[in-house]
Amino acid sequence: MIPFNKAFVTNRELGYIAEAYGNAHLSGDGAFTKQCHGWLEAQTGVSKALLTHSCTAALEMAAMLAGIGPGDEVIMPSYTFVSTANAFVLRGAVPVFVDIRPDTCNLDETLVEAAITPRTRAIVPVHYAGVACEMNALQDIARRHNLLLIEDAAQGVMARYHGRVLGGIGDFGTYSFHETKNVTCGEGGALLVNAPAHAQRAEIIREKGTNRSQFFRGQVDKYTWVDVGSSYLPGELVAAFLWAQLQEAASITDARLAIWARYHASLAPLEAAGLLRRPTIPAGCEHNAHMYYVVLAPQFDRQQVLTSLRAAGINAVFHYVPLHSAPAGRQFGRVHGAMDVTDAVSERLIRLPLWVGLTEAQQHEVVTQLGAALA
Ligand SMILES: *Cc1c(COP(=O)(O)O)cnc(C)c1O
Repeated sequence: MIPFNKAFVTNRELGYIAEAYGNAHLSGDGAFTKQCHGWLEAQTGVSKALLTHSCTAALEMAAMLAGIGPGDEVIMPSYTFVSTANAFVLRGAVPVFVDIRPDTCNLDETLVEAAITPRTRAIVPVHYAGVACEMNALQDIARRHNLLLIEDAAQGVMARYHGRVLGGIGDFGTYSFHETKNVTCGEGGALLVNAPAHAQRAEIIREKGTNRSQFFRGQVDKYTWVDVGSSYLPGELVAAFLWAQLQEAASITDARLAIWARYHASLAPLEAAGLLRRPTIPAGCEHNAHMYYVVLAPQFDRQQVLTSLRAAGINAVFHYVPLHSAPAGRQFGRVHGAMDVTDAVSERLIRLPLWVGLTEAQQHEVVTQLGAALA
């Protein structure tokens, strides 16, 4: 069986974990966490990067920092992971789902402005498959309407938009280091804070609403409860694992891009035959090969195609059930406009195996079997 995903390890993880153990500092914000923060700040250019135990946690922090409250509205795609919406629903806000672009499966920036109401507080673009949303247009809309821009860059580590690093463009950005993402520590994430004015409060919210971070830096002589917050930081063993991966982030991305490019070249004939559509990478987007997906032509039954692939030893998978059609999405959110592209893409998209170590022979098999399933 060719698995859909296989987490890559660099072989330095266990050494760093042993080092963290030797440092006798196992809770959060030790030496390895600081190295990860430094790397993330250098890579993204934000004023503050903070490791979290998941991208979900980082999104929850962003919602608190943005001051989102009951009745506020937040514009986002429906074609995304549940955490994008849940983070705001937890604050009593209403996710307003807008359709996606057919080429990138990203929030359709031309539909956003019409969804704005007096209650709208933020726009949450999701960089699907590590391909950037149209951030110039979204930033322009956010500025003109005085809205916050919160990037769900869970899939966007190491990807860029006109030279700018995803996650570092909006007011806040979030990364995921879940096992299924390019750079991983099992479960993990990061919050990126662009405006220095939010940096201190971000530390406080992450440390249970206390000013413990300032205390550790010697800036206050005791620490106390100063704000709302929760426990959002990972322990040092997790940070040690992640540090090994961040050091290899460039080579991991290069290896994935090579695999992505091979799929893209070998699937061109199936696209030319009208059997499927390959991903589009708009000009100015440097993606990170987080995913290789194809959108099947409407005449195919996707489940049958996935079943045929599985019978041939290939684990290809579908992706999101649109949030607007999910029970909680219907309860907590609302739709603005038609969801035709979201509905069509979500019913026809399949993701192919893509992981560092996937061989050319295995890729050839995936492409051959996909062609056979569509014959
Ligand atoms: C993976 C993912 C998340 C959640 O990440 P966790 O680290 O598992 O919390 C959120 N949003 C998107 C778009 C994702 O792909």
